[in-house]
Amino acid sequence: MVLRGLIVAGLAAAGLASAAPQPLAIGHSVRGRPIVAYERGDRSAPATLVVGVIHGSEPAGLAVISRLRRMPLPPHVHLWLVPTVNPDGLAAGTRQNAQGLNINRDFMKLETPEGQAFAKLWNDYDPHVGYDLHTSDGSSHGYYLT
Ligand SMILES: [Zn+2]
Repeated sequence: MVLRGLIVAGLAAAGLASAAPQPLAIGHSVRGRPIVAYERGDRSAPATLVVGVIHGSEPAGLAVISRLRRMPLPPHVHLWLVPTVNPDGLAAGTRQNAQGLNINRDFMKLETPEGQAFAKLWNDYDPHVGYDLHTSDGSSHGYYLT
C-alpha cells in the first residue's frame, strides 16, 4: 500500500498520473448516503448529464457510468456523471427512495432530498442535455429518454 502511494505520488509529481475525476458531493439520501457527481472533459463544451440509477431496482446504468468515468473522451466533450440519485433504493433494490417516493416523479414538488440534490445540480451547472438511464425487463414503454 505504501509502495502504491509512493508510485502514485511520483507519477503525480511527474504529471503522469491519470486525471481520474474526483467526486463532488451534491447531496444526501434520506438515510444519509452521499449522492455524488463526477465532472469530466472540456468544461468549455456544452455539458451532458448522465444519471446511472434513479430507480434502485434498475442498476444497469452503473456500468455505463463506470465506463464513462474511465474511457478516454473525444475533444469538446463535457460530462457530468451521477452514478445514482437513489442510493437508498439502490442498496435496498427498490424503485422508490427510503420515503417510498419515486424520485423520477419528484421534480416538480421536490419532496425528496434526492430530488432536491438533483435539481440543485441542474440549476448550479446547467447541463445542455440529460440522460436518465433506466432498465427494462424487456417490456416496451415507448420512451427512450425521460
Ligand atoms: Zn426506471
